Amino acid sequence: MSIRFRLTIAAIAVILVANSLLSFIALQYLGHTWMGEVQNRVRRNLNSARAAYQSQTDVIAWFLRATARDCTLAPAAARNDRATLETMLRSLGESNNMDFVGLTDAEGRVICRSGSRRQGDDISADPLVAQVLRDRTAASGTVVFSQKRLLAEGRSLADRAAIPIIPTEAARPPSDLVLSDGLVIAAAVPLLDDRGQIQAILYGGHLLNQRYEIVDAIKDQVFRGEAYQGREIGTVTIFLRDVRVSTNVKRQDGSRAVGTQLSTLVSDAVLERGEIWAAPAFVVNDWYITAYEPIRDPAGKIIGVLYVGLLRAPFTHQLRIISVVFLTIIGGATLASLVLLLLVHGRVLRPVHCVVDMAQKVIGGDLTARVGIRPPGEMGVLCRAVDSMAEAVAERAELLKQATRQQIHRSEQLASVGRLAAGVAHEINNPLTGVLAFADLMREKENLDDQDREDLDVIIRETKRVREIVRGLLDYARETPSVKKVLNVNDVIRQMTRLLGNREAFQHVNIVEILDDNLPPINGDQNQLQQVLLNLALNACEAMTEGGTLVIATSLADHRVVIEVTDTGCGIAPEHLDKIFDPFFTTKPVGKGTGLGLSVSSAIVQQHDGTLEVRSSPGKGTTFSIALPVVQPTAA
Ligand code: ADP
Ligand code: MG
Repeated sequence: MSIRFRLTIAAIAVILVANSLLSFIALQYLGHTWMGEVQNRVRRNLNSARAAYQSQTDVIAWFLRATARDCTLAPAAARNDRATLETMLRSLGESNNMDFVGLTDAEGRVICRSGSRRQGDDISADPLVAQVLRDRTAASGTVVFSQKRLLAEGRSLADRAAIPIIPTEAARPPSDLVLSDGLVIAAAVPLLDDRGQIQAILYGGHLLNQRYEIVDAIKDQVFRGEAYQGREIGTVTIFLRDVRVSTNVKRQDGSRAVGTQLSTLVSDAVLERGEIWAAPAFVVNDWYITAYEPIRDPAGKIIGVLYVGLLRAPFTHQLRIISVVFLTIIGGATLASLVLLLLVHGRVLRPVHCVVDMAQKVIGGDLTARVGIRPPGEMGVLCRAVDSMAEAVAERAELLKQATRQQIHRSEQLASVGRLAAGVAHEINNPLTGVLAFADLMREKENLDDQDREDLDVIIRETKRVREIVRGLLDYARETPSVKKVLNVNDVIRQMTRLLGNREAFQHVNIVEILDDNLPPINGDQNQLQQVLLNLALNACEAMTEGGTLVIATSLADHRVVIEVTDTGCGIAPEHLDKIFDPFFTTKPVGKGTGLGLSVSSAIVQQHDGTLEVRSSPGKGTTFSIALPVVQPTAA
């Protein structure tokens, strides 16, 4: 998976998760506050409905008061002129569309009524009449009329009040199958004589059961015909206790949904505890945002409920539109950020691609590959750095190639020189032995004069020197094969130093051995190793013309036996350090050095799979160190 792909996926995931979370929270919040607002609106509607309902009672009281002031009513009552009274009451009832109007005497016994001929019954217990008798002022409000009272006021009223109760599962089981009581808004006003005594009481009102003008008037006043898909969104209902007696909620068949009951939950809150209840509810056949409040009689007793409801559908519809618009905006923003993201990624990650491509080319061996581009910012710095790195790698590789080429060339050269030298040495060796033997024989003759003897000594000495060189050459060319056996380096060193001690050249040199007694054995040719040590010791001795100390130390390091030969001589000039192992390189005067000691030693050490290294500080001394592999325990 590419970096670009992974980064993009991660960023897309972050954007999507963040936006989904944001949308979810925002929509939840929006729904909550929106429905809260609607609920508040319903509460306000309930307040308006209460005021409208109240004004209906006020209108009745106002009419009655106006009639009471009519100066013909009181004399007619005093005369008990039934014909006049009946006419007056009936016209009063008709003019205000009142369901019942009546007149009582000063004790509350009915003298005359608009809807029936019954008279003489005592209605002083009626809460409104009782209040007038007590306070001698007008009283108005909502009261419950029993079936008996309704019959007294007019048979048609009792008939209209009778509503079959439709039992509802969520409601309390009804005590009767048919509602017989009536919910009434009414008023009563006293007719006072000159002394302020009650002469008669005029009463009248509306039976709310199945009378729909009032709820419709309240609804029009509160909701002003607001509609959704041809349906009015607001409804008003009046309950007698928990039974709907007047409403604008309609059933499927268009009839008014009276007779249905309030759920126990709401009736407990409103009827029992006198609270205002506001919550969404399923009413008859739809969801409404509702509010209920108790209706009390003049004595403060809860006798019914006033309800307003707003159809929920238009508000959920609006909420849905707002949500869709919101989600579209969020979706658009998400899409835009994704597109932007892809563009930015393309720009940012192109250099990364170039760098990766270039690195792969370099790995594949193409050292000329470069990133090439220089984008702004850190990416540009990175590209430049990678290019410089590639440049450096290419340069170093070129140097290495040259060095290797030189090395191979030199090795070939040395090999051919070695072969030539070995050939020559071989040829010279036999004649030299002859020359030396004859010179020795001549030297033994007795009739030689001193001059001849000296000359012969020179011949013998120089011939021996030539033989030394020839032997060196043969060693260098590895003409003498090595015979290896397991041996202890310390023993070789001890033997050699014993030899050195006898030599005249070493008389002024202090030889010190620092040998590690726990050295493991190595596999080597004793003679050859001795020759190497001898060469190093001789060089050291020759470097210490004024005398000095020669330290030969052994130790174990990294599975190798290390022999260090250190002198306190003149040291080696830095420019000579890489030449001293070349054959025939010598800084010694002609006749003194052959320049073969170190090259032969180096060849022998290599034959033993070892290394020969030098450290030197001019004027202070030199250390040659030989490292030889120890014998593996299995091979021992
Ligand atoms: P030779 O001794 O015949 O000159 P070698 O190969 O033994 O040839 O040494 C080469 C050169 O290395 C010497 O001529 C000398 O300059 C230098 N050299 C070797 N060993 C030492 C040493 N211990 N101290 C200083 N110079 C040394
Ligand atoms: Mg030497």
